[in-house]
Amino acid sequence: MTMHGALRIAPLQGSVSAAEWQARVDLAACYRLCESYGMSDMIYTHITARVPDSPGHFLINPNGMLFGEITASSLLKVSLEGEILYKPDLPYGLHPAGFTIHSAIYRARPDAMAAMHTHTVAGMAVSALKCGLLPLTQTATRFYGRIAYHEFRGPERDPSERDSLARSIGKLDYCILRNHGLLTLGESVPEAFIAMWGLERACQAQLQAMACNTELNLPPDDVVAKSCEMYTSGSRRYGLLEWPGLLRKLDMQDPSYRD
Ligand SMILES: [Zn+2]
Repeated sequence: MTMHGALRIAPLQGSVSAAEWQARVDLAACYRLCESYGMSDMIYTHITARVPDSPGHFLINPNGMLFGEITASSLLKVSLEGEILYKPDLPYGLHPAGFTIHSAIYRARPDAMAAMHTHTVAGMAVSALKCGLLPLTQTATRFYGRIAYHEFRGPERDPSERDSLARSIGKLDYCILRNHGLLTLGESVPEAFIAMWGLERACQAQLQAMACNTELNLPPDDVVAKSCEMYTSGSRRYGLLEWPGLLRKLDMQDPSYRD
């Protein structure tokens, strides 16, 4: 389905592997969900997925498409060295900071299959607090002690930034980029999205609580640790239960992300 005014992009289904196509559909869905849940920054951030059957390559948005316009066939395929293996016939290329951040992750973390980066107001605000994310809510305890912090040194356009970011993230799956925004890793696109959903809401709740000019009630350390353990030792991975419903929501609104 091509709506009036929509970009015309040649369909890729059938000309890439089934595994790559599935990653493309999930990643395009993630961009649409990011937009529909108010987590986009127009064109200025990036969400990526490693190509499952070609681990040296990953998929990323063409720099210039709004997140609500992204389709499975529109995503660029790039190598970890920055070579563009596929780009649609559009005047939009690879964003240098997007390449730097995401290639750093996929080079350093073979277990990472997807990564989501946002500049939400709540994420940027918490990234500017010395205290970082506090375990003030049940949602926030999921992330307690599991968040990496990476100091701001200007936009990540220099490939030398990759080693520094990889060192900051280490083996963790969540990162607050100081004075910048949020970053989540996942073993799938749904997992990275659901982690971001939780991290975003934890940031929003913290800011609202801190703005109330009254003493905050921090749960005791043992309770926070127990809650974090319960959240992260569950039998299913985050995203598996949530994702089919999220795709149904998108399919009812506008299924063109599947194009
Ligand atoms: Zn950014």
